[in-house]
Amino acid sequence: MQDLQDELRAIVGADQVFVGADIDDRYKIDLTKKYASQPGYVVRPATAEQVSAVVKLAHATGTPVTPLSGRTGLVGGGVVTDGGIVLSLERMNRILDVDITSMTMTVEAGCILQTVQEAAEAQNAFLPLDLGARGSAMIGGVIATNAGGNRVVRWGMMRDMVIGLEVVLADGTIISSLTKMLKDNAGYNWKHLLIGSEGTLGIVTRAVLRLRPFPASSQTSIVAVNSFEDVITLLRQLESGLSGRLSSFELMWGNFYQCISEANLPRRPRPLPLGSPFYALVEAMGSNPADDAAQFEREMEKVMASGLVTNAVIATSERERQGLWAVREELEAGLATYFPFLSYDVSMALAEMPRFVDAATANLHRRYSNARIMFYGHAGDGNLHAIASIGETLTPDIRISIDSAIFEAVREVGGSIAAEHGIGQSRAAFLSWTRSPEELQLMRAIKAALDPRNILNPGKWPEIG
Ligand SMILES: Cc1cc2nc3c(=O)[nH]c(=O)nc-3n(C[C@H](O)[C@H](O)[C@H](O)COP(=O)(O)OP(=O)(O)OC[C@H]3O[C@@H](n4cnc5c(N)ncnc54)[C@H](O)[C@@H]3O)c2cc1C
Repeated sequence: MQDLQDELRAIVGADQVFVGADIDDRYKIDLTKKYASQPGYVVRPATAEQVSAVVKLAHATGTPVTPLSGRTGLVGGGVVTDGGIVLSLERMNRILDVDITSMTMTVEAGCILQTVQEAAEAQNAFLPLDLGARGSAMIGGVIATNAGGNRVVRWGMMRDMVIGLEVVLADGTIISSLTKMLKDNAGYNWKHLLIGSEGTLGIVTRAVLRLRPFPASSQTSIVAVNSFEDVITLLRQLESGLSGRLSSFELMWGNFYQCISEANLPRRPRPLPLGSPFYALVEAMGSNPADDAAQFEREMEKVMASGLVTNAVIATSERERQGLWAVREELEAGLATYFPFLSYDVSMALAEMPRFVDAATANLHRRYSNARIMFYGHAGDGNLHAIASIGETLTPDIRISIDSAIFEAVREVGGSIAAEHGIGQSRAAFLSWTRSPEELQLMRAIKAALDPRNILNPGKWPEIG
């Protein structure tokens, strides 16, 4: 152990290796406080070459390595095996290049998402990825989890914004393909294998990201809708009526809207009265402020006149816009009323959402008659979150039972148990519920080929490696 410690210090510098009591709690316990471990070492490299040297050493000694970025992951993926190395990317936080001609930016993995968004904006460019954890999540983490967020309905997930990638493989090899080309069909696209692999196949060190023109205008509204059928019609109507400018369509079931808006009062006035089965937060972005606002209002009038929308409020300032988003993003006080709770991140075809919601609710109530459950999410992408509580302490057996209730419903509608947060530790036991034996075998073969000693984030997906 002393040898390993000395060698790590020789690679990254004595002041960037932490052991024993010097290891800060933030490297031991995850954000959800559900997962914890005792790392052997915390190492904070400053370059890809240092990452490579650390990984080579881990490979040679068979020591587990877990990469860690902004620590906002919600599934326990960033908690290392006891005694392993936490490899924190936080010092690799330089924006290397903003190229307005190619509309790309090249960044290190430890850059905070919001910092990258702001650096793009300073050049009148736009990185569309956006999520509630923007102030802490880092580029390496959002690539490793293929994060989604609030604007997938228009611009896709992180995968759709990564053009070039640099990773360190399990044997320490640095694969650097920091290209700025959108098109490259020369052989297997290995980048897409790495994106979303949650630190199990390689460590992201740098990336080239695709930028878009900065939208000069945005219009935001919360609308009330009477039925799920009307929700789908509304979504499709806005997609075409807003000429492709619809950038967010966040759906909230009535009880979620009530819970969150109630808890945020009086700090945040409630945008629309209670009592509707559904509320949708709708946002459009464009490049022509005067025309865009008029078009948005016209479309809103149309959907109100046809009865698709029963009530609506449109933000008239940035402050009001933030007030509307608060119902969807400032969840802490509302969720506290469900504590202790379990949260889910599942996906399915949009048309299957009502069947899923009914089945999940029925499955849960069959097991726990006093259970409470509410749904919300990025419905424009078929992605739903669920918050489930039975009003008592969640023992491991109860957790499995509630997980099973939800995932049985996911399986019934042919959905996925992990829409955007990933598998990590919390979904590991259920990977096979929505993946076939053949798919799992393929994943095992990929893991064995790229990480034969199983040192990269081992134990996270036990069925794979
Ligand atoms: C308030 C809040 C809102 C959120 N909203 C969304 C949302 O809308 N959409 C969404 O998709 N997620 C959301 N998340 C989840 C989370 O923010 C994302 O999963 C994010 O992508 C994680 O980034 P991170 O830098 O915090 O990664 P971490 O938590 O540090 O790590 C996450 C995983 O990636 C691995 N990893 C980290 N860095 C690297 C690297 N450089 N190379 C290889 N592997 C690495 C880790 O080992 C771990 O398995 C939300 C979380 C919070 C707290």
